[in-house]
Amino acid sequence: MSTLDAPALKPLPATPAVDARVNLLDLDRPRMEAFFEEELGEKRFRAHQMMKWMYHRHVTSFADMTDLGKALRSKLEDRCDVRPPKVMFDKPSTDGTHKWLLGMDAGNAVETVLIPDKNRGTLCVSSQVGCGLNCQFCSTATQGFNRNLSAAEVIGQVFVAARHLGNVPHRDRKLTNVVMMGMGEPLLNFDNVVTAMSLMRDDLGFGLASKRVTLSTAGLVPMIDKLSEKTEVALAVSLHAANDALRTELVPLNKKYPVAELMDACLRYLKRTKMESITFEYTLMRGVNDQPEHARELVALMRQFCRQAQYSHAAKVNLIPFNPFPGTRFERSGETEIRAFQKKLLDGGILTMVRRTRGDDIDAACGQLKGQVMDKTRRQAEFKKKLEGGSNAAA
Ligand code: SAH
Repeated sequence: MSTLDAPALKPLPATPAVDARVNLLDLDRPRMEAFFEEELGEKRFRAHQMMKWMYHRHVTSFADMTDLGKALRSKLEDRCDVRPPKVMFDKPSTDGTHKWLLGMDAGNAVETVLIPDKNRGTLCVSSQVGCGLNCQFCSTATQGFNRNLSAAEVIGQVFVAARHLGNVPHRDRKLTNVVMMGMGEPLLNFDNVVTAMSLMRDDLGFGLASKRVTLSTAGLVPMIDKLSEKTEVALAVSLHAANDALRTELVPLNKKYPVAELMDACLRYLKRTKMESITFEYTLMRGVNDQPEHARELVALMRQFCRQAQYSHAAKVNLIPFNPFPGTRFERSGETEIRAFQKKLLDGGILTMVRRTRGDDIDAACGQLKGQVMDKTRRQAEFKKKLEGGSNAAA
């Protein structure tokens, strides 16, 4: 396999909107203020009123924004709109999980999932239409890649979920956490994702605390550094193997940014931000990375990391039982192996959770998200051909 079997490593610009009007969902607070002051000739507090209508009350029609004067409302009608993604499909699961298929443009759609759990409601948000990284165990990889989502399309996913929650009768349904763990590699859509994350955290936006917004990455080392300069969010790193040979097989990006460099970047992230720990995600696949020697290696790597960070809980491990999808050559580890793997880590002093699989019945679990991707790579066609070619040919 090539260094990175992906169409592009450099962040790509979002496809320009067909509608040339300014979508106010694209603007974080400084841009919204500048737009009101410089473009509309209005006072700064008007921008704040607008954000409250959008993010606190989920109102999209200017006519309903009653504390904005008539003249301003008509100016707004002429110049801009509030355009969240279109809900193409809306599917609740039997376990309370809720999945939306959101149309972004003709032919492209992404999935967004809300996972309620006791006092929490976690929204899993996508950053790209498809993904170019080709992690071997991820269904999004089989769909290829089309484009980056705009900031409006990223924050728009939170908007759709919040609007839904505002309309359901259960008062206890909340949106308390956002994880950038849907389709795509968020660090390859850096600017738009950072803009959207700032709206997630802004009091005039969704008002989430920094540690409740998590960016998950396959490990783009330079962009992890850049992230620490631009924003303050929790970082999750998709590790899946503690040695380079196996990790490169599973996550081809590892060839470019091997484990040691990735761990160093994580250390730098902790030093430069207020975050106390990094979450390392580890998808458990039967016979591939779930054996006792893999657990031992992972314990050693995590302990070394905590030593270097000078904090015994600087690393948290999230074990994700593999979620199968049609055509995959991998299988979920058995319950015994999962428990044994977790025990080895806990015995090694590493905080380790097993992520309960949610939304299984609607294919909304990790790595099962499948939007509609107008693939610009050949990956989708290749995967289809392999699927047709034989049951284990997708390997
Ligand atoms: N590109 C980002 C975010 C998307 S994937 C990243 O790599 O982190 C979100 C998480 O789900 C990652 O840890 C990913 O490795 C994991 N994942 C992908 N496919 C999976 C599958 N089939 N079963 C379980 N976890 C999976």
